[in-house]
Amino acid sequence: MIPYGRQEITESDIDAVIEVLRSDFLTQGPKVPEFERMVAEHVGARHGLAVNSATSALHIACLALGLGNGDWLWTSPVTFVASANCGLYCGACVDFVDIDSRTYNLCPVALRKKLEVARTENRLPKIVVAVHLSGQPCDMKAIAALADEYGFKVIEDASHAIGGKYRGEFIGNGRYSDVTVFSFHPVKIVTTAEGGVAVTNDDELARKMDLFRNHGITRDTSLMTQEPDGPWYYQQVELGFNYRMTELQAALGVSQMQRLDHFVARRHQLAGRYDQLLADLPVITPWQHPDSYSGLHLYVVRLQLAGLDVSHRAFFEYLRSNGVGVNLHYIPVHTQPYYKAMGFEAQDFPEAMAYYSEAISLPMFHGMAEEQQDAVVAAVKGAFGELA
Ligand SMILES: *Cc1c(COP(=O)(O)O)cnc(C)c1O
Repeated sequence: MIPYGRQEITESDIDAVIEVLRSDFLTQGPKVPEFERMVAEHVGARHGLAVNSATSALHIACLALGLGNGDWLWTSPVTFVASANCGLYCGACVDFVDIDSRTYNLCPVALRKKLEVARTENRLPKIVVAVHLSGQPCDMKAIAALADEYGFKVIEDASHAIGGKYRGEFIGNGRYSDVTVFSFHPVKIVTTAEGGVAVTNDDELARKMDLFRNHGITRDTSLMTQEPDGPWYYQQVELGFNYRMTELQAALGVSQMQRLDHFVARRHQLAGRYDQLLADLPVITPWQHPDSYSGLHLYVVRLQLAGLDVSHRAFFEYLRSNGVGVNLHYIPVHTQPYYKAMGFEAQDFPEAMAYYSEAISLPMFHGMAEEQQDAVVAAVKGAFGELA
């Protein structure tokens, strides 16, 4: 089975991890700060905070921004559940904004409309999580303008987007948001096995996220409410978590980050090749906004099956049974029974549902050979030939 995504691990990645195993520190040593600095410098942010997953990074970002009971967090329905769950972790309510029909990202026009209504009902969001689906950045300029006008904070969920650019600048530089979060899960562009990094330019947010990832404890006397009992003393000043990244993960990350530009360039080559090979088939290939240089974590096509006697599901099953590990990113979060129980109806977000009825993620990963890509295209052609 050709997987939809797969890590690339080299001998030097392995050596970097082994070196840590032979060293004094498996956790809380020098590698984590090195990895944080590397990510922050690469994307052009002041601070980087490494944690054990992007999910944790989203959680501490929400906490640092003060999200709590009675607040609202809005995001796109077409995302992984973590982009929404982080709001629930904080006791906030979650709502969604429908997607743009071409980028599949949170639509700023729909956002404005929803904000206008929310203002009259006095339930404006405290945080909007802008998810860069597949690695293509959202219309951040428009979202940032609305954030100014309506007074909400913006988190970029850039789990798919490290190494990508928006208007010529790396995603994560914080020009249009408060915090940006990256994932280093093995299917993503760069991996640390599990891992995430939150980047920000705001010193105070960085300080708070640092506390929340480490039990809420500090050894910084200026943050304590009482005199230390002695040199051993640390004080718990918040209710935090153990979300720390290990040295093993960070060492892998440092080694992988050196190949980031390579990873993204290769993904662009593969995407360009898919675009050509699929051009004559009834599929919509990923449209790229001129402001975007996507990280291309995913290559999502939309099947145009109208008039053909074949279902999306049959197509998907055909590809899986012909050795192509296709996937579907994502089941709209508001249709999950857990969210439906909050009162959402599938058709609350019709663009998301239209997308869900047509989307298929074709395999896309750095080590993908052209023969593998040809096999994927042959299987897609086979599906149209045999099923339609
Ligand atoms: C993968 C992913 C996450 C969660 O990342 P983890 O590192 O696995 O916790 C969050 N949001 C999006 C959009 C993702 O794709």
